[in-house]
Amino acid sequence: MRKLLFESLFRRPFTEQAPSPDDAAVTELATAVGRAARRRLGRSLSIREVDAGSCSGCELEIHALNNAYYDVERFGLRFVASPRHADVLMVTGPVTLNMREALLRTYDAVPAPKWVVAVGGCALNGGIFAGSYACADGVASTVPVDLHIPGCPPSPTVLLKGLLALLTKTGG
Ligand code: SF4
Repeated sequence: MRKLLFESLFRRPFTEQAPSPDDAAVTELATAVGRAARRRLGRSLSIREVDAGSCSGCELEIHALNNAYYDVERFGLRFVASPRHADVLMVTGPVTLNMREALLRTYDAVPAPKWVVAVGGCALNGGIFAGSYACADGVASTVPVDLHIPGCPPSPTVLLKGLLALLTKTGG
């Protein structure tokens, strides 16, 4: 036991090195998303997120958008508690059968016009859960999808790029 404790004092951590922050790139990207939202909607962009059976990996990256480093609310991107206040329905996971009804109800509660963004490989086609008896194999099987953001999971920067693509694609 003493030997283990002693070794742990000098052993390097097993965790991967964190990516070096690129403040300027994140600020530029988030500013572009906020600007595109104001051009398209005349105000901030509101997002309601639904976990439809994900492993929580995608959630961690989405939640990171609100942490002290990214803090996207300062650029006009807000995650809202009620679907009635949302412009975008962001969905993760393969859509487990017991989340299907909840997803449908949330979709119906978002006022039109609305966009659905499927986040991660599972949301595209079930990902690692594809073929399971308990899953619907992707968000498009349940609600119409406007944009898919790939990744397992996609990083906050990739999420911001996806939102920018959504706003510029539908901004016409
Ligand atoms: S795409 Fe990857 S991180 Fe996201 S829910 Fe599926 S397995 Fe988890």
